[in-house]
Amino acid sequence: MNKIKKNYILIPIFTAILSLIFMIIIASNTTTSINKSYSNFTEDLNSHNISTVIMDTSPNMTVILNNGEKYSTDNPKTDNLKETLLLNNIKVKDETVAPLIKTLPSGIFVVSLLTIMFMLIAKARGGSGSMTSMDMEDFSKNKKVALDFNSVAGNDEAKESLMDIVDFLKSPEKYQKYGARMPKGVILYGSPGTGKTLLAKAVAGEAGVPFYALSGSDFVQVYVGVGAARIRNLFKKAKSHGKAVIFIDEIDAIGKKRGNSKGGGNNDERDQTLNALLTEMSGFGQEEGIVVIAATNRLDMLDDALLRPGRFDRHIEVSLPDVNAREKILSLHLKNKPHDNLDIKDIAKKTVYFSGAKLESLVNESAILAAKDDSDTITNKHIEAAYSITLAGYDKKETSYLSKEDKLLTSYHEAGHGLVSMLLLPKDKVSKITIIPTTKGAGGYTLTIPEDKNYHKMNYLKNKIKVLLGGRAAEEIIFGKENISTGAENDISQTTDIALKMISEYGMGDTLGLIKLSSVGSLYGSYGNPVIEECKKLLDNLYEETLELLRENKNKLDSLALELLEKETLYDTELEKFVS
Ligand code: ADP
Ligand code: ZN
Repeated sequence: MNKIKKNYILIPIFTAILSLIFMIIIASNTTTSINKSYSNFTEDLNSHNISTVIMDTSPNMTVILNNGEKYSTDNPKTDNLKETLLLNNIKVKDETVAPLIKTLPSGIFVVSLLTIMFMLIAKARGGSGSMTSMDMEDFSKNKKVALDFNSVAGNDEAKESLMDIVDFLKSPEKYQKYGARMPKGVILYGSPGTGKTLLAKAVAGEAGVPFYALSGSDFVQVYVGVGAARIRNLFKKAKSHGKAVIFIDEIDAIGKKRGNSKGGGNNDERDQTLNALLTEMSGFGQEEGIVVIAATNRLDMLDDALLRPGRFDRHIEVSLPDVNAREKILSLHLKNKPHDNLDIKDIAKKTVYFSGAKLESLVNESAILAAKDDSDTITNKHIEAAYSITLAGYDKKETSYLSKEDKLLTSYHEAGHGLVSMLLLPKDKVSKITIIPTTKGAGGYTLTIPEDKNYHKMNYLKNKIKVLLGGRAAEEIIFGKENISTGAENDISQTTDIALKMISEYGMGDTLGLIKLSSVGSLYGSYGNPVIEECKKLLDNLYEETLELLRENKNKLDSLALELLEKETLYDTELEKFVS
């Protein structure tokens, strides 16, 4: 493809040179270097020496004498000059409208130059329609090398969620028969290197359909219109295969929230690209079996337009692996490498907050070291050395992540939430507690499934607040008031919210009684401060009660936190024993 392009560019270069030669020949034919004054010309005129006068749009005219001599002189541009000449039997060539033969070469020259320019620009862009920037793997033909879910270790929740998509790709008719609307778009979000690309490829591999990939960053700094063309081209190619997985990495590069983004000189281009994507997505029907999978590190950065139903309406978190998943990933990447006496469990324990990609690179680094050593197998020594190399390559933020102290703090914080929840709200099931950070910036989280209810009693709301305060309370009890952390910021914004609503909207406070604050309009200001004071008192009291509850149950708090420190993630079945 590129070869042909290179040859095409020779054509305009050739025509440009050719037309330039023509122009020179014509110019040398008509212009003369000799210049004479007008009085000279009138002398020649009076002595009947002149045979021809050539007039054109220039301020000069060319005079040819009977003896063939040529010179140019000023053209007075008077109306009767031509008549005078003609009356004197002089041939007059009027070229005020330049003949085609003269303008054609310059026209061709300009066109050729423009063509060369456009071709060069198109080449610099990587060719708007060329495959160079598009990654394509056809798993429908080459089943043997296909990736499947076995190539992805851990990430069980994400895999389960994607299983539906695989089934849909295999038999879209089945879903159509039931009138079920399958998601056209899926967003995988999570830290870099957690296996989002790998998962998308595995979906294509499992379903046995072609995999097309583009990265959002390819669209940054391209010329307006090119991104949109690339998107259309991508979809056209995918559709020609019938079923396909289209993968768009770094979707945030084109799908960032619009609006107050200043200074981004390329907004037009981004909008056009995004619109093209949305148009293409609404353009294919259910029966076609095309699924678009996009990946991003930050779900909250994406434009709402992307997340609406019928677009990317399924969002799947791909989180950093916990100790179990790390063990699986390590085993997977060690599978085809000779190793000996490795304590994979122990390596998994040491590699907290490593992404799948980092684990892969750790294994690869050890293999390189083993090869350098001419060792028969990868040994613990190589892993140790590779571990230091990998760690040294980390930026500062991540090494601080690795500190045991942080991990312990997070363990107690999350254990605090979990324990208070299990003690006070046994009907809200705690399904998962983890100290693996999320991309949203939380150090860990506790996932509860609230009991399904239409309304909540005041007591429930108070207990809910205590659960939210449990994290901070646990920190204070274990590490002292001086050592509480910023990890509770999100909890505090939620408790503030609930407490404010109780007092100002649900009629559960004293200051306002049954008055709803947002309905009093301009009087709002006069109630504001007392409401906040009451709110503060409520929260202070609830915090004291939470501290007390946790102090009474400090043994449970300790054992839960330590288990969490060890296992990093605990699920509902493992949690029951702490409160029974
Ligand atoms: P992302 O797209 O999330 O940035 P990738 O899918 O590109 O991450 O992962 C990069 C590499 O890291 C993969 O090619 C694979 O070797 C390794 N990797 C990441 N996660 C996993 C996993 N869960 N299981 C196995 N390998 C993984
Ligand atoms: Zn918390």
